[in-house]
Amino acid sequence: MTFGATVLDVLVFGGTHGNEWTGVYAVERFAEQLRKEFPELSCEFHFSNPEAFKLNKRFKDEDLNRAFQFLAEERPRSYEHNRAREIRTLIGRRPCFVIDLHTTTANMGNTVILTNYHPLNLWVAAQLTQRLPSCRVIGSPDDQKKYLASQSEFGMMIEVGPVANGVVNGKALEGTLEVLRGIFAALSNQEKFSSGRITLFEETSDIYYPKNDQGELDGYIHPEFQSKDFIPVNGNYTPFKKFSGEEISLSTTEELYPIFINEAAYYPQQLAFSLCRKVSKNF
Ligand SMILES: [Zn+2]
Repeated sequence: MTFGATVLDVLVFGGTHGNEWTGVYAVERFAEQLRKEFPELSCEFHFSNPEAFKLNKRFKDEDLNRAFQFLAEERPRSYEHNRAREIRTLIGRRPCFVIDLHTTTANMGNTVILTNYHPLNLWVAAQLTQRLPSCRVIGSPDDQKKYLASQSEFGMMIEVGPVANGVVNGKALEGTLEVLRGIFAALSNQEKFSSGRITLFEETSDIYYPKNDQGELDGYIHPEFQSKDFIPVNGNYTPFKKFSGEEISLSTTEELYPIFINEAAYYPQQLAFSLCRKVSKNF
């Protein structure tokens, strides 16, 4: 199988969220080293959101990793809207593989998130997990193309955690670089593409925090559930404790895998975690 043309242009974006410093330092300090390690690839490294980094905030005016769905609108006063336009133009110049670097406060380990099930993306993810068996693959199809990484049909996000926002955490930084190297190694060997099968975690639903009558947060992730990302639940499980001490249980009728448990960035939406189903995809 071929993809029309081999995709050797690789665009890596870091600091899409300004308080996720791992990606910032990965693109700002490791670009030269990675280019030397993979001279056969044409790699560009871009700092997505320098204004939000200066503020040490996720974003200045709007979430850059959601801004791409609003590109048809006029939002001249939004810094991220303008950055999304610039980034869209950069990506649209030729077929390219887009890698967007993120971190999470949740105990996710090293993961990649596919927003498009193109066979090349599935194959790259399969190659990556052969090289790094602990790296997990999440499937989150993005039909609205709201994410930066969805601006090319080829690409994926890297999501590493747990790491606090606004710090350089060596484990997260080196984990990100290892995942990047795994993706680069696969892209350097695209002529070896062959069909296969990959197991991934596909997002199925979002679970929200307990709220009181005023809509305020009325509890927290149960201590026994904290950091249990990717540990399957089936039947009854107890993800929350209310401030009153009452435990809150939920139930499922199938084996599901929680991810993004207690991600700091999701509190404004009161999103506590997401649930995934383990699925196999042929490519
Ligand atoms: Zn992020």
